[in-house]
Amino acid sequence: MKIANLDGRAVLVLDDEVADIETVSDGTFTSDPMSVYEQWDAFVDFASGVSAGTAPLDESHLCCPVPRPRQVFAIGLNYQEHADESTMDVPETPATFTKYPASLAGPFDDIEIVADRVDWEVELVAVIGRQADRVDPADGWSYIAGLTVGQDISDRELQMAAGRQFSLGKSRRGFGPMGPWVVTLDEFGDPGDLALRCSVDGDTMQDARTKDLIFDVPRLVAELSAVLSLLPGDVIFTGTPSGVGAARTPPRFLRPGDLLETWIEGIGTMRNHCL
Ligand code: ZN
Repeated sequence: MKIANLDGRAVLVLDDEVADIETVSDGTFTSDPMSVYEQWDAFVDFASGVSAGTAPLDESHLCCPVPRPRQVFAIGLNYQEHADESTMDVPETPATFTKYPASLAGPFDDIEIVADRVDWEVELVAVIGRQADRVDPADGWSYIAGLTVGQDISDRELQMAAGRQFSLGKSRRGFGPMGPWVVTLDEFGDPGDLALRCSVDGDTMQDARTKDLIFDVPRLVAELSAVLSLLPGDVIFTGTPSGVGAARTPPRFLRPGDLLETWIEGIGTMRNHCL
């Protein structure tokens, strides 16, 4: 199933229609897009029986599908070719920072280019469906509600200027587009091997597969939950493959007027215009 946020309300996406979750559940589930993750097992039981929509799908009204996670984990240097282009070594522990939740944005929101070195990073985003503590890697997937597309938009100057603490440079307003929806794991043939791509004005910049993640999704659940609890509705930006603008010759950064398109196999496409 696909779960989205339409004008602030939780919906199921059924082909070209949406079903408003509060309406079709007679209030068992609220309209808050975060609430489904708090009651994940009950929600899946209910939602798998919903087959009819309540309104046509209008993509332009889609907002961030997971708008208020308590924790946003983001992983650096998680594809070998990206570590190489960054001339950095892959650490033995996932290189973890945060995108502050207020930086999250919708799949078709504009990106305000407020600095000279604003870069793209297509990333698979995993959404936590149940509290995870000290999880064995073999059980990692069972804590994931679903997957979505993310852009870890990065102000490269601020990223490095802040004492090499990445989080602030990754958290400018609107620098965390996600969407268009969260797709549950049963929809994928192999959720561990998905093609992902991003392009700027039609020029492909990144083109890779998630099987090349160094720390894959179950391993990230294990590594992070060894340190602290992962909570329902938390999200993990799993890292970007090679092809970021800062590593190109010559470097290329986002400019007002650019169209950034971001796609992952089996999930969908985000389109963000740069202002
Ligand atoms: Zn990233």
